[in-house]
This record gives sequence, C-alpha cells and structure tokens, in this order.
Amino acid sequence: MKKISVVIPAHNEEGNIFLIHQRIKDVFSKLENYHFEIIFVNDGSRDQTQAKIEELAKQFEEVKFIEFSRNFGHQPAVKAGIDSSNANAVISMDADLQHPPELIPELIEKWEEGFDIVYTIRTYPKEISAFKRRTSSLYYKFLSKISDVNLREGGGSDFRLMDSSVVDVVRNMNEADIFLRGLSNWMGFRQTGIRFTAGERASGESSYNLQKMMRFAFTGITAFSVKPLYLAAYLGFIFSAIAVLGYGIYVIHSFVSQTEISGWASLIMTVVFFGGLQLIILGIIGIYLGKIFKQVKERPNYIIRSKNF
Ligand code: UDP
Ligand code: MG
Repeated sequence: MKKISVVIPAHNEEGNIFLIHQRIKDVFSKLENYHFEIIFVNDGSRDQTQAKIEELAKQFEEVKFIEFSRNFGHQPAVKAGIDSSNANAVISMDADLQHPPELIPELIEKWEEGFDIVYTIRTYPKEISAFKRRTSSLYYKFLSKISDVNLREGGGSDFRLMDSSVVDVVRNMNEADIFLRGLSNWMGFRQTGIRFTAGERASGESSYNLQKMMRFAFTGITAFSVKPLYLAAYLGFIFSAIAVLGYGIYVIHSFVSQTEISGWASLIMTVVFFGGLQLIILGIIGIYLGKIFKQVKERPNYIIRSKNF
C-alpha cells in the first residue's frame, strides 16, 4: 500500500473542514492500493477552525493537524505540511474546495506513469471576477518573462502532487520567502499538468485582499529574478545618453541663436522626475536588501504551536 498525504492549509475555514474531509474520504474509498492522511495546517485562524479539526481528528485517525502559533501565510503553511509528511507522495490543495478532490485519482494516475510533479492548470469559471482572471493571467505572463522560471498561464495553482523525492528537496530548502509555485517549476524533475476549472469557495471568504495579492506578486518576482535590479543600470544609461544629447543641442542652439533657453518650469519637472525615478530604483534595491536581511536572520518559515503526530 502506498501512502499519500493531502496537505491542506486553512486560515479561517471553519465551514469547510468537515466538507473537504468528507469529499477526500469519498475519493479514496474508491481507490485501492492507497491509504491516505490529511494534514490540516491551521495557519493562525481566528474562528473555530482548530476546534473543528480536533473534533475530526478524534473521530478519524487519518486526520492529522499542525497548528501555527500565528498567521504565517499560505506558502509557509503548505511547506509545513510537506515538511512533516513521510508518505510516498504529497498532494497540496486549498481548504475551500476550489480545488476539486475528485481530481486526485487523475493526479495519482500521472504519478504512477512516472511523473514526479503533477501540477494543475486552473481555468477560471465565468463567475470569478474578470479583474481577478485578468490580473492573474497578466501576472504569470509577466513573471515568466522577468524571471528564469516559466509559469504557464494559470499555472499558479497550489494544487499539485509531489513525489517523495521532490518532497525531500523542498524540505531541505530554507528560503526566507518561500514561493512554491515558482520553486516547483524551478526544481525540474519530470513534470506534467492537468487542467481543471476552479469552483467557487464552499464557504467563508478569501483571505487574499489586493494588498496581500500585491505582496504575493512581489515575493514571486523578487524570489526568482534579479532583473529588476538591472533596470536601474539600464535607465541610468538611457537618461545619461539623453542628457548628453540635450546638452549638445543646448550648446549648439545658444551659439547659433546667440540667446539662452530659459524656463525654470521644465527644470523643476526634470528634477522632480529624476527624484521619483531614483526613489523607485532605491525601493527596488531595498526590497532585495530586505530579503537578504530576512535570510541572514535565519528565522524559521513558521512556528508550530501544537501537532497531533
Ligand atoms: N490560507 C492560509 N493562510 C493565509 C491565507 C490563506 O493558509 O494567510 C489558505 C486558505 O485557508 C485556503 C488557501 O490558503 O485554503 C487559499 O486561500 P484563499 O482561498 O483565501 O485564496 P484564493 O483562493 O482566493 O486565491
Ligand atoms: Mg480560495
């Protein structure tokens, strides 16, 4: 019998815990040759999530949990589940049932064919706001362009199966800002993907607001690319060239016409413009510096308050 861990990060998901357990149980009851465990990672929920998980764990021995000491974020939660699994494969999925458990047999089938990572490609249904669909697809295109990882459009889903050999690699990564979506592509191995349509959340609200999404986007870009740093150098060259050209034109003009070009307004605008530009570049450098700062402190990605295995 092969063992499979299903890792489920949960942040304020009290209404979904029983539901997702039932759905996963149903799926595995139809699969022979596999036994499963569910590792719920309670990521600092403020509702009854922990109580529901513990209630479930009392009834079913396949239910395991890790409780964080506070909210550390979705990616660290997935990492925690992966870290403590000893199964032959790990499947990570969201608690809100936007990742259909019914896709699990297909993931396992691909794994048995010899793939080490089976990722999923999410296609959004019509009901999801056009804004989210558009920004998500634009973001992954941009991220693939600017960094060395190739994230297929909509490939940014944390619903994936990883073989234990991959799990070992992830466990040994100690990046401060872990970004599994990029990492799983970066690691290589034999990979394949399956398409699925993301449903609506079963209950509760999304924990991602615009600010969290922006932070997530920045983390993704800066974790996989130093290209934004080159931007400073490129812009420096371009504007120096323009300045030299402009100065030449000015000198020639004042010789030919014997008058000086006046205009303090344009001067101020130029100063302000370059002030802004320098701040942006400084900010970009700062983000990377912050990452180095975080990394050298070597703080853990998460802190566990309690665990039942
Ligand atoms: N999640 C988490 N910690 C957080 C935010 C989210 O563990 O700080 C979990 C959440 O419980 C869910 C998954 O990550 O299982 C995806 O979150 P959500 O559904 O809020 O994101 P969306 O589907 O809207 O992108
Ligand atoms: Mg969701």
